[in-house]
Amino acid sequence: MTGERALKKISVRGVVQGVGFRPFVYRLARDHGLTGWVLNHSGGVEIEVEGSASALTTFIRDLETQAPPLARIESIQAADAPPAGYTTFDIRHSVAQEGRYQLISPDIATCPDCLRELLDPNDRRYRYPFTNCTNCGPRFTIIADIPYDRPLTTMRDFALCPQCQAEYHNPLDRRFHAQPNACPACGPQVWLMPDDNPQKVGDTIAQAAHLLQAGAILAIKGLGGFHLACDATNETAVRTLRERKQRPAKPLAVMMVTLEEVKRHCWVSEKEEQLLTSPQCPIVLLRWKPESSVARLAAPGINYLGVMLPYTPLHHVLLRDVGRPLVMTSGNLAEEPIARDNDEALRRLGHLADAFLMHNRGIHTRYDDSVWFVPHALPQPIRRARGYAPFPVKLPFKLKPILACGSELKNTFCVTRDEYAFLSQHIGDMENLETLEHFEATLELYNRLFRIEPGIIAHDLHPDYLATKYAKSQAADRRPQIAVQHHHAHIASCLADNEWLPDDGPVIGVAWDGAGYGTDGHIWGGEFLVADYGGFRRAARLEYLPIPGGEVAIRNPYRLAMGYVYALTGDSTWPFKVDASEEEHRVILQQIDRGINCPLTSAGGRLFDAVSALLGICRQITYEGQAAIELERVSGTHIPKSEIGYPFDLRENAEGTIIRLRPLFEALVADVRDGASIGEMAYRFHVTVAEMMRTACEKIAQETGLQTVALSGGCFQNRLLLSLVVPRLQEAGLRVLQHRQIPCNDGGISLGQAVIAHFANEE
Ligand code: ZN
Ligand code: ZN
Ligand code: FE
Repeated sequence: MTGERALKKISVRGVVQGVGFRPFVYRLARDHGLTGWVLNHSGGVEIEVEGSASALTTFIRDLETQAPPLARIESIQAADAPPAGYTTFDIRHSVAQEGRYQLISPDIATCPDCLRELLDPNDRRYRYPFTNCTNCGPRFTIIADIPYDRPLTTMRDFALCPQCQAEYHNPLDRRFHAQPNACPACGPQVWLMPDDNPQKVGDTIAQAAHLLQAGAILAIKGLGGFHLACDATNETAVRTLRERKQRPAKPLAVMMVTLEEVKRHCWVSEKEEQLLTSPQCPIVLLRWKPESSVARLAAPGINYLGVMLPYTPLHHVLLRDVGRPLVMTSGNLAEEPIARDNDEALRRLGHLADAFLMHNRGIHTRYDDSVWFVPHALPQPIRRARGYAPFPVKLPFKLKPILACGSELKNTFCVTRDEYAFLSQHIGDMENLETLEHFEATLELYNRLFRIEPGIIAHDLHPDYLATKYAKSQAADRRPQIAVQHHHAHIASCLADNEWLPDDGPVIGVAWDGAGYGTDGHIWGGEFLVADYGGFRRAARLEYLPIPGGEVAIRNPYRLAMGYVYALTGDSTWPFKVDASEEEHRVILQQIDRGINCPLTSAGGRLFDAVSALLGICRQITYEGQAAIELERVSGTHIPKSEIGYPFDLRENAEGTIIRLRPLFEALVADVRDGASIGEMAYRFHVTVAEMMRTACEKIAQETGLQTVALSGGCFQNRLLLSLVVPRLQEAGLRVLQHRQIPCNDGGISLGQAVIAHFANEE
């Protein structure tokens, strides 16, 4: 080689391991006639390249612009150094470095190249359920530690056959250094249990498909745990699955073989299509066509269906063999965590499944399916797990190492380091020991993978939440603990989700949800806060109303309706049909009159529940949010005659503005007595809530001069409400922040807790 040679030491950070980055660097260096080496280390990818100055410049440019599809480059740093006289370009062995960390790729759905091989009878991976390459396949679920190399994954026990070995070592192959590389000769296998089915036709997956076609319920081991599956078009099978899982009404997700099939069952917008077919491949809530052959029991009382496409080779082959959509719901009983290991599944799911489709690729961490929805063209997650975690939310400022323990329902935790907030995958409802164990094991994994030692612990203000108790149990180690009010955390999470800077100042935070512990000991949830990361003031709220019987009333919204109507209007004759006995009537009245076992709440979620029951839509629930979801459905199927809401009052007191609901309930009760259309009442109720939000926000804006509103809390999973509120706020000249990367429900709270704890602990 001639001309002046130069050497660059380059360090690349981001998701650059397990995504084919080193082979890409190798090919790029060769294409540019450069020598040197590349290696993975715990902190990212290091490169030394030597060659002409101009070749080095284009190399660095191409590094960024031509990176492999799954790579996410956070930074490239290059420094000059004296030439070393390299004659070849090599991929060197990975090195672990104390304290360094790197971002880790989530698991990624099967890529088009692998799918083609999977369906090609002449390919050696035809129908092989563990086909993957550097552009797709398992990542996070098989990693025990970094650097990301096979010995530190659950693939360590599978020795590569000569053919796979050749692919692995060939820089021009799609599987060059693909750590989970496997084939039928050397990789993991599937089998059926019990193995005594009479229809032994075809291979294991074909046999499983026969069982499903015959109406059986199968436990299927997937990427991050077991699914329970059945033929989604077979109503009896779906009913049996519901009975066994003790899940009478909560919607079940359905997997469909192709996008074309999805469009036969649901309306799919452009944004929804992008999500469905993305490498993350989440469940997307789609508007369900009445002519769909999927049993209505899959999502009773709802006109949306959660649909996903196959995301592993096993799913692709199985769905093609079965030839119809499959219910694919988490393999668990009620609200326990998803079953992960084979033995565990046999023990926990034995009475739920007729047969098991097992495999022997280990799962290191439980990983549920993610769920998204697209209200007015702005996609938002409802559950963030597969395909997204453990990729962090990047903040526009650096954070101390903090652990935020989250809330109770749909829990996630958050650990922070530098400008990264590592929000865990969905952990579940923290109501049982199994979920707490999942929480602790996953936390330990995040701390290990990202080399985080949290110095501060943040938790919810609620003393009885299991996540709060976990935080308290760590008190012995003397790390500072910070209790964060639930709705403050909601608003801070929305701000962080929108890269809000501390200097951007406070916003009007509308935090509406089912429940959150207030600083006055009451249950909050219809809150208008003036808030920033550093603190909050409760500027307006719904008035306090009784929850007669507490938890019982939350499961039985008719009790809420009775309590609200009685407390607001004194009317104890109930204009609506209730399922309560004479005795229960008497008890409810007494509870309210004497304030016995009658917590007070300002929660918006409870208002939706009460109205849903008052209108006779949903009097009893079997899953969280059911009454509000069905209320929205009834409103959504109705073409409104009137865009005018019901009346409500504002009253000022020393605390701020109180929204009074007596006029609303008087009007609703009158409409119910008059036999007004339920759809019309439900729609007008949504308009009323939107008007309340506009009125309160405008008032606070006038008082404070603030121009930005942040919307957070589970009530904002309501599409109709969003479609009525957002334009009203915008018409009032206000800028509206909504969630984008993390859920507006309690699954996003830990991010807000972490950021608040950071600023609370600032010296
Ligand atoms: Zn692939
Ligand atoms: Zn092989
Ligand atoms: Fe909440």
